[in-house]
Amino acid sequence: MSKILIIEDEEKIARFVELELKHEGYETAKAFDGRKGLDEALKEDYDLILLDVMLPGLNGLEVLRRLRQEKQTPVIMLTARDAVMDKVSGLDAGADDYITKPFAIEELLARIRVAFKKRGSTAASSSASKKLEINGVALDEDRHEVSVNGEFVELTNREFELLHTLMLNKNIVLSREKLMNMVCGYDYVGETNIIDVYVRYLRTKIDDRFNVKLITTVRGVGYVIKE
Ligand code: CA
Repeated sequence: MSKILIIEDEEKIARFVELELKHEGYETAKAFDGRKGLDEALKEDYDLILLDVMLPGLNGLEVLRRLRQEKQTPVIMLTARDAVMDKVSGLDAGADDYITKPFAIEELLARIRVAFKKRGSTAASSSASKKLEINGVALDEDRHEVSVNGEFVELTNREFELLHTLMLNKNIVLSREKLMNMVCGYDYVGETNIIDVYVRYLRTKIDDRFNVKLITTVRGVGYVIKE
C-alpha cells in the first residue's frame, strides 16, 4: 500500500484530504507544521508527500530543500492561487508537481497517480545504465550526474529532466508543449513558459559557465540540442 504524508497547517484541509486518500486505499499520515513534517518525512519512508507552501515553523520550500538533501521522495506542492513564484521555486527546489488551492479532490488524485506512474517508469527504465554525451556534455542517468568536459554541474531535478529529454532527442526540435509533457508529465497543467525558465537556468549553468552553445532556440517552434 502506498504511504502518503500530508504536511498542511490548515487542519480541515489536511483531514479532508486524508479521508479521501484513505478512501482511495492509500495509507496516510499528517503533520501540521513544517518542522514536524520534515522530521516525519526524514524518519519514515513515504511514497509521496503533499506539501503546503505557507506553513508555520519551516515554510514548504525550506522543508523541500532540506528533504532533497537526503531523499528523493516525490513531492506535490500545495500552493496559493497565482503564486507563480512559489511554483517556480518549488519545482526548482525539486518538487515533482504542484496544485493550486483550492483544488478539486479529483484533480489531486489524478496528480498523485501521475506522480506514481512517473516514478514507476523512471525506476523501470533505469535498469540499463544509460550514458549520453553530446559536444562534451555528459549525462549519466543512473548516477543522475551531468558533467561538461569532465567537470560536474549541479542541476535540479527539473533541469536534469529537461536536459535529459533534449539529449535523448538530439537534432529533433521539440516544442514547449511537447517538452512540458515529457518533462512534467502528460497531465501537467501549467504555464508553458516554465520551460523557458528552465532553459535559461541550464544556459546559465552550462553555456555561460563553459562557454559552449548547447541548447538552440528555434524561433516560433521550440528548442533543440544539435550534435
Ligand atoms: Ca498553509
